[in-house]
Amino acid sequence: MSKVILITGASRGIGRSAAVLAGARGWSVGVNYASNAAAADETVAAVQAAGGKAIAIHGDVSDEAAIIAMFDATEKAFGKIDGVVNNAGIVAPGSALADMDIARMKRIFDINVLGAYLCAREAARRMSSSRGGRGGSLVNVSSAAARLGGAGEYVDYAGSKGAIDTLTIGLAKELGREGVRVNAIRPGLIETDIHASGGKPDRAQVLGVTTPIGRPGTADEVGESIVWLLSDASSYVTGALLDVAGGR
Ligand code: NAP
Repeated sequence: MSKVILITGASRGIGRSAAVLAGARGWSVGVNYASNAAAADETVAAVQAAGGKAIAIHGDVSDEAAIIAMFDATEKAFGKIDGVVNNAGIVAPGSALADMDIARMKRIFDINVLGAYLCAREAARRMSSSRGGRGGSLVNVSSAAARLGGAGEYVDYAGSKGAIDTLTIGLAKELGREGVRVNAIRPGLIETDIHASGGKPDRAQVLGVTTPIGRPGTADEVGESIVWLLSDASSYVTGALLDVAGGR
């Protein structure tokens, strides 16, 4: 069945891979991005080349009005939403908590936690059967950091992902009878631009060899799991925290 999906932070990395893999299933995708319009346009073209439909939607997930607008834009283009991927997220350069300032921590929690909660709220409003929705699937992109803690690098980021795990557990129970499944993916060391934004471009390569599988993961390996959770093939899976971390 064809689906309408909104993916936050889909211009690059894991979100981009999920978008293209959704396109390969013939689905329609709202490709949200924060600032890199060229990357978002490239993702849209890749989704279309894969066989799906897509539009690029600018909007910062720390802005409530922008979130509502990105859901509206997706539904205006393609009809009612069947799935949402809460993927947009950031890290900051490695630091001990003792050296972190409030501006950094506020930004991490505004985007990674409040942004994800507001997207989840909007997904609940639009997909819940008692509110006129047709059910659906919400996939929250957490991190292995939620269980590892991020010591010495980013305990703020790790905590923000812990909140995503808890959101997943609670909302899955809240929406089970609404036809909405809620799951989280916890990626490990995945080769994307996020490590450069944290000041260590080769972080996934360097640490990836220490994982049981012996290498970093790819964005496509995470995207496959996301698309499976969006699909009807995972119809009895909800409240799950799925590690895609090479055994780390
Ligand atoms: P990435 O390559 O840095 O891409 C980040 C994406 O999010 C971009 O599309 C970016 O848009 C968008 N974005 C950033 N801030 C945003 C905001 N405020 N509003 C809307 N979109 C925003 O990151 P990634 O590695 O794919 O990470 C995706 C998710 O996976 C994140 O939640 C991250 O925490 C999680 N994760 C990643 C890893 C890993 O090793 N890569 C591991 C565990 C968890 P622009 O292109 O416009 O900047």
